[in-house]
Amino acid sequence: MTKDDVFRPASIVEALRATPETRVADIDTNGTPGFDGDKALGERLFAERGAVLSDLQEMLFAEGRTGGTRSVLLILQGMDTAGKGGMVRHVVGQIDPQGVDHKAFGVPTEEEKRHHFLWRIAKALPRNGQLGVFDRSHYEDVLVARVRSLVPENVWRGRYDEINRFESEVVREGTTIVKVAMFVSLDEQKKRLAERLERRDKHWKYDPSDVSERALWPQYQQAYQDMLDRTSTDEAPWYVVPCDRKWYSRLAVTELLIDAFERLDLDWPEPTFDIETEKRRLAES
Ligand code: AMP
Ligand code: MG
Repeated sequence: MTKDDVFRPASIVEALRATPETRVADIDTNGTPGFDGDKALGERLFAERGAVLSDLQEMLFAEGRTGGTRSVLLILQGMDTAGKGGMVRHVVGQIDPQGVDHKAFGVPTEEEKRHHFLWRIAKALPRNGQLGVFDRSHYEDVLVARVRSLVPENVWRGRYDEINRFESEVVREGTTIVKVAMFVSLDEQKKRLAERLERRDKHWKYDPSDVSERALWPQYQQAYQDMLDRTSTDEAPWYVVPCDRKWYSRLAVTELLIDAFERLDLDWPEPTFDIETEKRRLAES
């Protein structure tokens, strides 16, 4: 089999897009939707496509430097151990850091708690020409906030519409939103948590409360289901990425980003000076 038999970027993007039929409980977290190749090919493509992604981002950055107002926002949501941090290091890490606005959202601070839940989100939106990356996001406010009853039901229920209105406005102002829901199986999560306990270099990542969250898996699945059903819009659709195989999930998110950048129809900015004149001036200098 050649590369072209198994690798069509568009089929990955298409296969991952959430639909009204998507059932969180039925996701094959070990699957590789839209891709028939093996790990070796996946890793090779990941490197090749990473270079493509990096060039596209540089074009957006150049556009932003010359007055452009567009940006891209990658939102990563997933249970602990889904691989959000690795996605940032490996996928986003292929891009020039000066073009990346990265933000990880943890438990809201006292100050953040005094504001509307979207306050800290609005402040972290990407600047013109940047790739914004959210490691967790406002979706925590309809996930953990719901499952852990941090706010009354009528409050979190109202948030789906608030989020849709907010994102619609963000899109209208020139930000392309790529929402990635990352899913690992309960077994795979157990393995990854066990590794955090085994390895001295991973102890810092272990959080005893992650084990308590495992008991709430069905409630989280329901919360993820409603999130997909209520907030996957044409303007800002969700993509559902199986994450038991890290090499696949990283290739997949690379493709989702390339797809978003390609839809911007980017080009290098026109010079604001006369090239021949400048060549002459430089030669004479
Ligand atoms: P980590 O991503 O492992 O650093 O953990 C961050 C923690 O912050 C997770 O347990 C999240 O559930 C929690 N968190 C993030 N956003 C919120 C929020 N809006 N409300 C409550 N907890 C949150
Ligand atoms: Mg954690």
